[in-house]
Amino acid sequence: MDNGKTILANPEIKQLILELVGEEGLDVVRVLMGKKATDEEIAEETALKINTVRKILYKLYDYRLARYIRTKDKEIGWYIYTWELDLDRASEIVSARKQRILEELSKQLEFEMNHVFFSCKNDFSKIPFGEASENNFRCPKCNGILEYVDNQENIMKLEKEIERLKRTLKH
Ligand SMILES: [Zn+2]
Repeated sequence: MDNGKTILANPEIKQLILELVGEEGLDVVRVLMGKKATDEEIAEETALKINTVRKILYKLYDYRLARYIRTKDKEIGWYIYTWELDLDRASEIVSARKQRILEELSKQLEFEMNHVFFSCKNDFSKIPFGEASENNFRCPKCNGILEYVDNQENIMKLEKEIERLKRTLKH
């Protein structure tokens, strides 16, 4: 398990934490880097309100990015929650998201490769061959003449992005 400070050096993981719990959440995560702490200790170190800290912790808990150990304080008699991070899970979430994007892009690529498109110069609409031919190669919006679109560049862009994503997923 890597709870070292290096994990936030990974921009994808940092971005994920920011998206889930914001800047304040990032402060909480920084306190929990490589050590365990109670919600009160975290509040003290971050100068955040205890309720804000708890909200952030439970959100992290929901995503299984943090967990707690509950112990009973023998003197005061109530429960103390000691938190620790589980950021291994963060890489899994990041990978799963990339996988989804990859599937989306692959579908898009297939569509681009299997279709011929026409376009209207007036409104830049992109119309597949079937629809264009039904309209006698006239734009359905403005009746302008539709022209063949070379989507090779688009296809290459998609292929490049797919390759890039696949490479980052291998790490
Ligand atoms: Zn048009």
